[in-house]
Amino acid sequence: MLSVSDALDLILRQVHAGSSETISLSEGLTRILADDLFVPEDSPPFDKSLMDGFAVHIDESGSANAGGPSTVELKIAETITAGNLPTAAVRTGLASRIMTGAPLPDGCNCIVPIEQTQFIETHPHTVTIPRTALVSEAHLMRRGTAAKAGTTLLRRGTRLQPQQIAALAEFGFAQINVQKPPSVAVLATGDELVAVDQPATFGRIRNSNEPMLIAQIAASDARPVSLGIARDEESQLRERIQRGLQHDFLLLTGGVSAGLLDLVPQQLRAAGVTQVFHGVHMKPGKPLWFGVLEEAGRRCLVFGLPGNPVSSLACFELFVRPALQKFCGSAVPTTQPKALLTEPISVRGNRPVYQPVAISIVGNQLAAQPVPWSGSSDLKATVDANGMALLMPDNGRYAVGDLVDVWLWGDRRLV
Ligand code: AMP
Ligand code: MG
Repeated sequence: MLSVSDALDLILRQVHAGSSETISLSEGLTRILADDLFVPEDSPPFDKSLMDGFAVHIDESGSANAGGPSTVELKIAETITAGNLPTAAVRTGLASRIMTGAPLPDGCNCIVPIEQTQFIETHPHTVTIPRTALVSEAHLMRRGTAAKAGTTLLRRGTRLQPQQIAALAEFGFAQINVQKPPSVAVLATGDELVAVDQPATFGRIRNSNEPMLIAQIAASDARPVSLGIARDEESQLRERIQRGLQHDFLLLTGGVSAGLLDLVPQQLRAAGVTQVFHGVHMKPGKPLWFGVLEEAGRRCLVFGLPGNPVSSLACFELFVRPALQKFCGSAVPTTQPKALLTEPISVRGNRPVYQPVAISIVGNQLAAQPVPWSGSSDLKATVDANGMALLMPDNGRYAVGDLVDVWLWGDRRLV
């Protein structure tokens, strides 16, 4: 049977990057840049003051007024506020009062913060400055220090966060080209399923996979589309599958194992979906089915997720999320963070186990606390977990402090 990493390779090979769209910067949060962007103009665009104080000229002798005592008294030429242009140059013996963010006057090579001066508002024509404050290039920023025109600002594939939105605003990118989020249809299958607002009469259970997958899709910055519940019956499956295949991705849950009414693989093949694999060497998640529909220049990637809720959850995080990331043009992680186990745990069976764990930061390391869990249908155990740890069967028994690979679920926060 296929290993998890071989299955992921087969999936990613089928994912082509989606198209892009232009949006306004104000809608850019969490969107993925579709283009490399370059710095259009130097930052800062002019030499500027970083403090409220006095713009002075220090000459080659290292003084604003060579020789003399420990302080210098300078004549004030003008006051320059942010947004206004200086009109006079400063030279030896002169200073201009200047505010943070204002352009430097010609000749200025030092700003002396007002706190370091003796300046009396009622005598606004002179200022007294200690020589120790006359430090060449102090408290000013030269044009282009932060960014030079023509250098790289942001690379395509960057998921925009507030600091990147601010940088785009600084450089005037009012419109940006971003990846279109994939449209992902979700179809739950099973005669036993009822909707969340319905009573679960004897033998019935509520459809928990659909809301879970809708939330996982949304947490992956993709667009979920719900197709409701299909009965284990050919014509209904056929009709819903046809609708689902109109989207970039179709996720089905249930009906992919060896049961009498597990009709999903056969109905997908009948709809023209080419099977890539069926079955992965893992626990939970072994019955996973994956295939591709290609017709008239259009593709739909189809995942038949196992019906058991924790299997569906794990398969989404391991396989569907990376596929969505690649579709969006963002990087797919190739290594996992490692965490220290906080409790001994044994692996039963011969498959790699993805064990629900509570991941936290302890000291300067990640720690993984296994939650009590009775297997793929034990959804309740996952409410105390925020991720899963990979336990290999050949290790048999894990001890406290053993390092394990971990996956954070959902929005990938620790709390
Ligand atoms: P199946 O793969 O269809 O045999 O389903 C495996 C198990 O998962 C069965 O116990 C189903 O009742 C359960 N199951 C299937 N679909 C869902 C769902 N949407 N929500 C919750 N449990 C489900
Ligand atoms: Mg079923």
